[in-house]
Amino acid sequence: MSLDIDLHCHSTVSDGALHPADVVHRAAQRGVDVLALTDHDELDGLAPARAAAAEAGIRFIDGVEISVTWRGKTIHIVGLNIGRGLHGLGGELKKVRAGRLDRAARMSEDLARAGIKGALEGALRFAENPDMVGRTHFARFLVEAGVVPDTKSAFHRFLVPGKPGYVPIEWATLDNAVRWIVEAGGQAVLAHPGRYELSARALDDLVAQFRVAGGEGIEVVTGSHSPDQYALFGEMARKHGLAASRGSDFHGPGEGGEFGSLPPLDASLPAIWARWGL
Ligand code: AMP
Ligand code: MN
Ligand code: MN
Ligand code: MN
Repeated sequence: MSLDIDLHCHSTVSDGALHPADVVHRAAQRGVDVLALTDHDELDGLAPARAAAAEAGIRFIDGVEISVTWRGKTIHIVGLNIGRGLHGLGGELKKVRAGRLDRAARMSEDLARAGIKGALEGALRFAENPDMVGRTHFARFLVEAGVVPDTKSAFHRFLVPGKPGYVPIEWATLDNAVRWIVEAGGQAVLAHPGRYELSARALDDLVAQFRVAGGEGIEVVTGSHSPDQYALFGEMARKHGLAASRGSDFHGPGEGGEFGSLPPLDASLPAIWARWGL
């Protein structure tokens, strides 16, 4: 039987709902054999998750998901197998996180103008790590406050570009994010390319620049793609000579991507984990 390899998920260290060890135990219970924790712009969950994985008897891969601004859009780059460079990478990520509290305060002011009070305090109640307060925490607050029925509509109505609670922020550059991952001894993977709403031309430009910077992989099967996008991005991996990756993008029970629920990668695609002897 083939291994269930899941290389993308989140804990309370960023915008997940479960503590790192609980994320690992949930993955193990649902049949995951190899897991990477990839919190946004933070590494603090890796040590507890690694310990929990040893306990649960599954293989653990040190990961991260770095926020990048490319042509004014937010793009996510996953770094895998970054264990050799955690210290240096940690210093860079601290700078990436630095603008979050200020952005959150401005989001809250925007939402207040739209008639929603107390959003900053409300979001911070959901953010165990206030350094990493982000849109998911605001979405959970908007649901709790009864403003929207679910987090999906919180994004749709308030938290995406053009909506009253959206405040842009300048993240890392694409070249820097990829370089930090490579310098940490890891593999850089373009996360959920189907989510960016880029033209085919812009997406080709993004992938080309990513490769020149040292990027090696692209997510094909992810909880953030629809099933028809698995084939589309599998072809894109082949066309650009990138390795394919797979991950649930689990954030919490009932919040979208879930462990043990994705199909396997098409066996004819070169998988990113082949580089680790899997
Ligand atoms: P931030 O880094 O604070 O800008 O928040 C980005 C996070 O918000 C992503 O990692 C997702 O977890 C979540 N997110 C972004 N867009 C959506 C969406 N349309 N629906 C649900 N969650 C989303
Ligand atoms: Mn997230
Ligand atoms: Mn992402
Ligand atoms: Mn993610």
